[in-house]
Amino acid sequence: MDLTPHYRKFVLSIAANQAVTKLALKVGMKLGASRFVAGESLEQALEVVRDLNRRGILVTLDYLGEGVFSEQVAREMCEAYLTLLEGIQRERVNANASLKLTQMGLSFDRKLTEEIIHTIVAKAAETNNFIRIDMEDTPYTDATLEIYYDLRKQGFDNVGTVIQAYLYRSEKDIEALKQVDAKLRIVKGAYKEPPEHAFPQLSDVDENYKKLVANLLLAGKYTAIASHDERIIDWAKQFTAEHGIDRSRFEFQMLFGVRMSWQEQLAREGYQIRCYVPYGQMWYPYFTRRIAERPGNLWFVVKNMLKR
Ligand SMILES: Cc1cc2nc3c(=O)[nH]c(=O)nc-3n(C[C@H](O)[C@H](O)[C@H](O)COP(=O)(O)OP(=O)(O)OC[C@H]3O[C@@H](n4cnc5c(N)ncnc54)[C@H](O)[C@@H]3O)c2cc1C
Repeated sequence: MDLTPHYRKFVLSIAANQAVTKLALKVGMKLGASRFVAGESLEQALEVVRDLNRRGILVTLDYLGEGVFSEQVAREMCEAYLTLLEGIQRERVNANASLKLTQMGLSFDRKLTEEIIHTIVAKAAETNNFIRIDMEDTPYTDATLEIYYDLRKQGFDNVGTVIQAYLYRSEKDIEALKQVDAKLRIVKGAYKEPPEHAFPQLSDVDENYKKLVANLLLAGKYTAIASHDERIIDWAKQFTAEHGIDRSRFEFQMLFGVRMSWQEQLAREGYQIRCYVPYGQMWYPYFTRRIAERPGNLWFVVKNMLKR
């Protein structure tokens, strides 16, 4: 019996507990969050970007934040992204940016979110950069895609989004997104979703993942293959070689702190590989999803606790 979905649900439920959140925010960085987060400031994050670039690894920078419920904080998030884009341009590092729409107020004010994302994507266009809109849980899937389509209608092509292979709807979404030449990142999916929306079996998610990537690549769409799963990466290498798909037509993506030596190896083999580098003070929800993905990460935190 595969216990992984139960482990994941368990960790995500515990992590939502208020007392656990409070305690984690006090000591979490010391207990292991710093393995997955590049630091709390932009300067620290840019230092990490420079180092990764030197090793042949591209970067997408994520200023951490999600589930924002105040206009003031949403506007601060916007400012942080404008500063981030200026920092990338000033330091001439090879990085773009990823963000979440609930960080910009999507859970309470859609108009505000639309205004903010427009400002950020316009700034990215001005600085020759690209914005990736991460995909969150299913209450936000429709709104995220609608906002993405709106940006494209407004003439921005320096923006992409993410499709989650665990959702039944993704195959249909991809067909529509192909029509507008969307630049997509394919992921397995990181949230706790009910079986009405998502495949409960991991093997079905993996099959759907390959199906979606194959569909996009064969249609000639630039695709970001975001996974640390060696079976998926090996399959993608073989699939692209067999179909004569040039390495400039796709990139691999992995998270900062996960399988770093493999990221370097892919770069050495001549593949484009982009590392997702989060930074900032709101690291807790991001960190708990990383723990939920892998029991070994929980063990890593426990070991750090025992060492202290
Ligand atoms: C660049 C990037 C961007 C992403 N953006 C989104 C997004 O917008 N929306 C969303 O829902 N999800 C996103 N995700 C998360 C994604 O949905 C998965 O939860 C995550 O990538 C784990 O799935 P996997 O494909 O690596 O395969 P899995 O089957 O989960 O893992 C395969 C193997 O990779 C290793 N591994 C995986 N995760 C970890 C980890 N955290 N720590 C250590 N080892 C690990 C383990 O050895 C594991 O056995 C993103 C992932 C990446 C890499």
